[in-house]
Amino acid sequence: MNLLVYGIGQLATPLGQEPRRGAAQGELTVLRDAYVVVRDGRITDVGEGRRPRFLGPALDVEGRCVTPGLVDPHTHAVFAGSRVQEFLARARGERYTGGGILTTVRATREAGEDELVQLARPRLLRMLAQGVTTVEVKSGYGLTLADEAKMLRVVRRLDDELPLTLVPTFMGAHAFPPEVPRDAYVRLLVEEMIPAVARDGLAWFCDVFCDRGFYTVDEARAILTAAGGAGLGLKVHADELVHVGGAELAGDLSATSAEHLLHVSEAGIRALAQGGTVAVLLPGTAFVLGELFPPLRDLISAGVPVALGTDFNPGSSPVASLPLAMSLAILKLGMSPAEVLIGTTLNAAAAVGLEDEVGSLEPGKRADLVAWDARTYEEIPYWIGGNLAWAVVRGGVVLPPHPFSLPRGGEGKNDRSG
Ligand SMILES: [Zn+2]
Repeated sequence: MNLLVYGIGQLATPLGQEPRRGAAQGELTVLRDAYVVVRDGRITDVGEGRRPRFLGPALDVEGRCVTPGLVDPHTHAVFAGSRVQEFLARARGERYTGGGILTTVRATREAGEDELVQLARPRLLRMLAQGVTTVEVKSGYGLTLADEAKMLRVVRRLDDELPLTLVPTFMGAHAFPPEVPRDAYVRLLVEEMIPAVARDGLAWFCDVFCDRGFYTVDEARAILTAAGGAGLGLKVHADELVHVGGAELAGDLSATSAEHLLHVSEAGIRALAQGGTVAVLLPGTAFVLGELFPPLRDLISAGVPVALGTDFNPGSSPVASLPLAMSLAILKLGMSPAEVLIGTTLNAAAAVGLEDEVGSLEPGKRADLVAWDARTYEEIPYWIGGNLAWAVVRGGVVLPPHPFSLPRGGEGKNDRSG
């Protein structure tokens, strides 16, 4: 698809094909009066000033701010059932221990593949409508090979169907199934489930919930070693509830990413820096659970690249809005707007292994971009809870506008009527 995007009041993007760390996490390239040229779905030119001659479709964004399409590197968007009563109980002051996952496991096992597709589709479309063009989705509510594979097939079907890139992660080690002894389940993961998932190409990554009450560091190491041997990338839910050494393990294995990190230790931070592991911080979860927030400045000053995600799931984070996570990162983690934008574009792309493909606006990358109803990128997290995405472009295709957005041009009838 060819496209010229012009009339860009401010274009804000990181540059490069690797995650940005330390001071570089806050260094954006900002152009004014800019344009982007797209050929065959790829960016071929980005510049300032007079727009180039271009034969083909053009999108005038009328002075708005443009950024790369956002990347949500951590969701559990495929599931059945609701845990609204757990949400309300927690709001009344009952402490979260993570036991609620099995509620969703029961509902997800009972749901058929088609039903899970129907349930996940509108969730993902709501993300897309907020400027998110790449979403990582984990399994982990099946806890049998058949049910985990069912979830991962749902991710693949929606990746084929929707104008979104979905990154599938196998997370059979999300909890322990009640019907299988613990040791036997770890063996099943290592000897049967991971080899089958890798053989059938159902996932790019393997993730383990390494925390108190979930998988020990030794169990997680065995599972991730098997996953790495089978050719899967590695992720760790690390040190969310207490410090158990999940970040140390992630760094030691040079995992692609370590997630949550509310209780990460100094040694864990050093290990992440040495392992080249991206820290995926999920401020929506800490916000919902009323917990503390991770030591963001320590991670950045140690040279750990930081990405942001929603952790969208029916229990600890019914937060589907990555822009809301961006606002929370400003208010609660003390990130700068530039750090936040890089954390939801290039660094988030690196957290899902797509830093060569998306996450920045420069020649060679796929033309995933968002025009925001904002003059500057700082306004995206500032208007908290509003959806400022005005136009979303994916692979050079301008997607239909959000159903509630005003007609482009600000006057006249919506030309989609009739
Ligand atoms: Zn998670």
